[in-house]
Amino acid sequence: MTAPPATRFTGPDVPLLADVRSCIHCGFCLPSCPTYIATGSELESPRGRLHLIGAIMDGRLEANEHVLPHLDLCLQCRACETACPSNVPFGQIMEDARAAVVASGSATRPRSWSLRMLLLRNVIARPEVLRTALAPARLATRFGLQETVRPWLRRTLGDRSAAVEAQLDALVARPFRRAGVLARPPEPRARVALLTGCVHGELTPRMHEATVRVLARLGCEVVAPPAQACCGALHAHAGDAEGARALAKRNIVAFEAAQVDAVIVNAAGCGAAMKEYAHLFRNDPDWLPRAERFADTVHDATEYVTSIEGFDRGLGPIDAVATLQDSCHLAHAQGIREAPRRILQAIPGLQIRELKTPDRCCGAAGLFSLVQPEMSHTVLEAKLDDIEATGAEVVCTSNPGCTLQIAGGIVSRGLESRAMHVLELLDESYRARR
Ligand code: SF4
Ligand code: SF4
Repeated sequence: MTAPPATRFTGPDVPLLADVRSCIHCGFCLPSCPTYIATGSELESPRGRLHLIGAIMDGRLEANEHVLPHLDLCLQCRACETACPSNVPFGQIMEDARAAVVASGSATRPRSWSLRMLLLRNVIARPEVLRTALAPARLATRFGLQETVRPWLRRTLGDRSAAVEAQLDALVARPFRRAGVLARPPEPRARVALLTGCVHGELTPRMHEATVRVLARLGCEVVAPPAQACCGALHAHAGDAEGARALAKRNIVAFEAAQVDAVIVNAAGCGAAMKEYAHLFRNDPDWLPRAERFADTVHDATEYVTSIEGFDRGLGPIDAVATLQDSCHLAHAQGIREAPRRILQAIPGLQIRELKTPDRCCGAAGLFSLVQPEMSHTVLEAKLDDIEATGAEVVCTSNPGCTLQIAGGIVSRGLESRAMHVLELLDESYRARR
């Protein structure tokens, strides 16, 4: 007899009931939730999702095809955490809930979960596969064929095409695949390691190049341990806790061996995940202390740069109007809002116009734009309206995924803007002084 599909949360990563019950149902989080704003449905709100998770844990509800799509549509942007007066750790609850569904082997998981797992295990965590998969598109861009490919992509992929088109443009740049010592200024003030990540070097290489130049200019020796791996954030978000733990262990070992003063991360999503490695190892007394020690060495690139006295000296002018998209995992997960603004404010000639909702998600959310293209598109459109209203020529972010998503939106809407990491603009400003 075939076993019935599992419909209860199981495995080592089930959410803590006390955390779920810390929700006091006040609803303060609703106006900041992009999926609630888009649908007006309580089931697509933080409070609604917590109610569903709590009911599954109490055995009042099954984790079936009627319930799981509401968990799946969550961007995991964590805007609800910022709004919550009760400090509900929503991001961890959602990651654990998804991990518990994966562990249960539920046959009723939405199709998008299988697509996500396939990409995570076979492409994202394996740089050689990612490079091979991107090779034909990279070749096409080298011959200037992206304009020929674009209409076909729009016909074939519909809403998904913006995300893929942005990556076509990104492939024009030479990939960043360097490891070992990246920069060694005379008498360095610190030795730091750069997380090179999974897709970043392939799709946003200029971000890494700019980060290395900025750190070297500020007197840091920069290394990239060759044994490092993908940070595992996307795996954790998708409920692949085992995959995330395996990658986290590789990184802890690799960065410990590098003996650096700090680990620098220019991708807010990766930085947030690495600062929270301890949560992945909460049931593992052997790895927990190492994960905690490691997390203390992790710094977002903007956070680290602004901690260096004199970072704001020697800057050249950039005459442009700029705005800042607070990447969700920088603002909501890491609580960093001032550092990117301090950098932009230091650049002479730069006019900064704030977005109406700078800390609302852009719809990139890791693999969300690929697995939930309609909601991703809806959320992006609202972001583009906000950007367009500022008249910004430069849209700064602190995360490669946001940069690609916004760059794709800029192309499809025909805006006269460019999207880049805050450190890329800082690097431009240093170079403008020469
Ligand atoms: S993480 Fe974002 S999308 Fe998910 S419930 Fe919270 S605010 Fe809404
Ligand atoms: S703001 Fe916090 S406590 Fe209030 S409903 Fe949302 S998650 Fe629950």
